[in-house]
Amino acid sequence: MGIKVAKFGGSSLSDAEQFKKVKEILLSDPDRRYAVPSAPGRRFDDDDKITDLLYRCYKLAHTGQSYSECFSQVVERFCGIVNDLELDLDLLPELHETESEIARQDNADYAASRGEYFCGMILAKYLGWDFIDAAEVVRFDRQGVFAPEWTNEQLGETLREHEHAVIPGFYGSMPSGQVKTFSRGGSDITGALVARAVNAVLYENWTDVSGFLMADPHIIDKPRFIDALTYRELRELSYMGATVLHEDAIFPVRKAGIPTNIRNTNNPDHPGTMISVEPSPGSEDRTITGIAGHKNFTLISIDKAMMNSELGFGRRVLSVLEDLGISFEHLPTGIDTMCVVIADKELERHKQEIIDRIQVLCQPDSIEFNSGIALIATVGRGMVNKRGTASRLFRALAVADINVRMIDQGSSELNIIVGVDGKDFERAVSAIYYEFV
Ligand code: ASP
Repeated sequence: MGIKVAKFGGSSLSDAEQFKKVKEILLSDPDRRYAVPSAPGRRFDDDDKITDLLYRCYKLAHTGQSYSECFSQVVERFCGIVNDLELDLDLLPELHETESEIARQDNADYAASRGEYFCGMILAKYLGWDFIDAAEVVRFDRQGVFAPEWTNEQLGETLREHEHAVIPGFYGSMPSGQVKTFSRGGSDITGALVARAVNAVLYENWTDVSGFLMADPHIIDKPRFIDALTYRELRELSYMGATVLHEDAIFPVRKAGIPTNIRNTNNPDHPGTMISVEPSPGSEDRTITGIAGHKNFTLISIDKAMMNSELGFGRRVLSVLEDLGISFEHLPTGIDTMCVVIADKELERHKQEIIDRIQVLCQPDSIEFNSGIALIATVGRGMVNKRGTASRLFRALAVADINVRMIDQGSSELNIIVGVDGKDFERAVSAIYYEFV
């Protein structure tokens, strides 16, 4: 059919039993030709992730403390997996070298990357596939900025020579050869890069949940799974807090038109969530795709009579924020009112300065700060052209006796964002969910 690239998260590779599941998944479909592993994750609630142990080793080593006990936990985990899988693989010499190298390196990336590196070696041996060190094929420039085109070419060229291969996630290297990692959770990005480079028909992202849920399960009891959504919807939902995939993993596959399938290693028969550029057939009937939200925003309302005819008013307000390095989330406006929505943590140190600068630059009639606001995004392509969606949403909120403090709907009609008091957040999500589901 075409090449599939399968990325496995840390929980999918936490011990030998999980490795067995991964092998079964990979070998059950001959199209699955390239695997991208994370480092072994937690086996139980208060267990350590290998990556966390490695960061800890680096920190101990560079604050003059002994890290041998911490590193021995890493050795035990990897050697335990090798033994339990009965592999003829001796990692000890390289693990010992790594232990000394951690103290020699002047940043934590090398240490952190070794989780994926050794996990990839074990997986390749277990599968009988080739191992490709990500440092050879994923490139960052001298400043440490990821180099997508170099990487794409190099990965494509290298992988053409391997029928099957394991490429560890999360890291690459700079021109000097120094190892550099993506941000935490970055194996998702490597998986997407591999998928793009081999022109895959599908990027499978295997984790420990069967896909995206329509709402936060801490708020809604057993929310429905989202079987299919588009990359644009995913972006809206992730931005507002629904996380399964690393944000930066979306761009390479989206650009190449490759769908991503979120799957559950512990429940491989579940089809998971399919994310694609174009809507999948049948999903048009659905009005909403999901609901996500965040607490802790402030609404700054700036009033001035005849604001609408004052040229440059909006630009001057936004220049104050830009000069202070503050990014804003939304900008709902009225005729004589401009409202800017900002995350509380962005505001913390700057409130008085914002007031002073806006007073000088814009001479408004009033500036009002309303904090403790929660934003809720109701996302769905199905809302486009469907009459009555907004009215259903606001009626549901009214029936639940929730006061709406702000409304924002983009012209794409992909979502409706409402601001409510933080104390009403959970009830508002619930009211919207049960109205549409
Ligand atoms: N192992 C890394 C982390 O824990 C990267 C990843 O799992 O994707 O963040």
